[in-house]
Amino acid sequence: MAATIEHNGRAYRRPDRPLAVVCIDGGDPAYFASGLKDGIIPNIARFMKEGFSTVADGTVPSFTCPNNMSIVTGRPASVHGISGNFYLDRKTGEAVVMTGPELLRADSIMAEFSRRGLRVASITAKDKLRQQLGRNMELGKSGGRSGGSVSFSSQCADRCTMAENGIEDVLGFVGQPLPDMYSPELSLFVLDAGIKLLETRRPDLLYLSLTDFIQHAHAPGAPEANAFYANLDRRFGRLVELGATVALTADHGMNDKSKPDGTPNVIWLQDVLDKEFGPDRSTVICPITDAFVGHHGALGGFVRVYCRNGLTPRDVTGLVAGLPGVEAAYERAETARRFELPEDREGDVAVISDAGTCIGARRVDHDLSGLKGHRLRTHGGLSEAKVPIVISAPVTDAYARRAEQRPLKSYDVFDYALNGTATA
Ligand SMILES: [Zn+2]
Repeated sequence: MAATIEHNGRAYRRPDRPLAVVCIDGGDPAYFASGLKDGIIPNIARFMKEGFSTVADGTVPSFTCPNNMSIVTGRPASVHGISGNFYLDRKTGEAVVMTGPELLRADSIMAEFSRRGLRVASITAKDKLRQQLGRNMELGKSGGRSGGSVSFSSQCADRCTMAENGIEDVLGFVGQPLPDMYSPELSLFVLDAGIKLLETRRPDLLYLSLTDFIQHAHAPGAPEANAFYANLDRRFGRLVELGATVALTADHGMNDKSKPDGTPNVIWLQDVLDKEFGPDRSTVICPITDAFVGHHGALGGFVRVYCRNGLTPRDVTGLVAGLPGVEAAYERAETARRFELPEDREGDVAVISDAGTCIGARRVDHDLSGLKGHRLRTHGGLSEAKVPIVISAPVTDAYARRAEQRPLKSYDVFDYALNGTATA
């Protein structure tokens, strides 16, 4: 059996103890900083002190799917192909959902490990991510051991089958009811399922991906955020207690994008473009849009503009450069180069808002009723692309030096956790 496994052009050491990589959705470094100050995350504090800790660059646009895929493939979106939840098919003029597995151009490290006979557990909060993460995973029979690899979501934990998920009766297995779609329990269930698997089946590799329900609604230091982080911390401590190395990261950060009066601070970009250039000259695609827009109203910090009827990318960048709240606007090739994105799925112009501002399409197309008096907290831009990487074990001098020389990418987390930590 080879000591390393090559995947997507990188080599990974076979883990000699279980590794649990946790993606804290919306886990802005500010939540760790605040939690440390308030003394509510003792296990994370210990990992930072005795293990490894840095702030890394996540994928831009700083959305959930692109970043989860970067983390689990170990490569940027230019390789794995997922640069948002939606892109515009230029031939049909239709917005295409990018969250299904069919547009994925690289499989996850979990899938590859499962095919090499390792026992893998991939657990997500929302089911939309589960399919991308688990594509081509060998379920239910890894290594010929009873209780092989599994891939499921807490959202659909009541509907698991051996064929689709490699496990049945997850609710009975975890001993908890199905968590509500909009609740902190949706994330805690992911961790509790991971703990249960570690207790009973001892997978070699676990990828546990949470949801940002709390972070969208509550700022660092808020009682709800602190309660959530204390709950996470206890579970991270338990994973280590069970013999796992724990690596924590996030898909993206989170910023308050509201005006002083509490209403969302939005650039309605389609309205702006229509007013300046006329209707039918451009289409604004908000790649944060998905079926669960309640907590952010499909408003994020990164949109793509597609030009039509003679409108040029330069017309658009020239106009938006002067808009208050716009941090950057780049034409297609520059966007793809700068952020390592697949150029064929880029718009003609990418427009990125600053930390306090978000961008929508037309005012009439966004349903903000789901915010229910909450301040809008969302993500997508450069200001939400900083993410923590914290590993419960120390890394070698060479890896520590590399992290000091330049910021890591979040897609380096598996490399750091598998290859960078000292062998037992
Ligand atoms: Zn997210």
